[in-house]
Amino acid sequence: MKIDHLGIATGGIQEALKFWEDALGLESVHVEEVEDQKVRVAMLPLGESRIELLEPLSDDSPISNFLEKRGGGIHHIAVQVEDINASLAKLKQAGMKLIDEEPRVGAEGCLVAFVHPKSANGVLLELVQKI
Ligand code: ZN
Repeated sequence: MKIDHLGIATGGIQEALKFWEDALGLESVHVEEVEDQKVRVAMLPLGESRIELLEPLSDDSPISNFLEKRGGGIHHIAVQVEDINASLAKLKQAGMKLIDEEPRVGAEGCLVAFVHPKSANGVLLELVQKI
């Protein structure tokens, strides 16, 4: 396994890029709207991993909620797995609380599923399987 990306909640990607791109020197290589999750995402490669900047597309986006409560910051950690269905089955068998029982299509067409923070020490964990 490896860390696929760190998801960071922002009020606006353009504004956030002033830090991550202009000042820090990373490069946004991919911007996409994921309608299903009501977010716009920007991917910035960083070593083997990426920073994923998240911006809400509407007031009922999960990111809007997070921004209201916490005002931005690390939203989730995404781990790349070989077989997402096998990982979900294993977690379920271990009694872990899942947000997604079945994988869905996330950014870049990957299969993704979220594990509830209650089962992961307060961290929202995203499983990602590359297609
Ligand atoms: Zn993510």
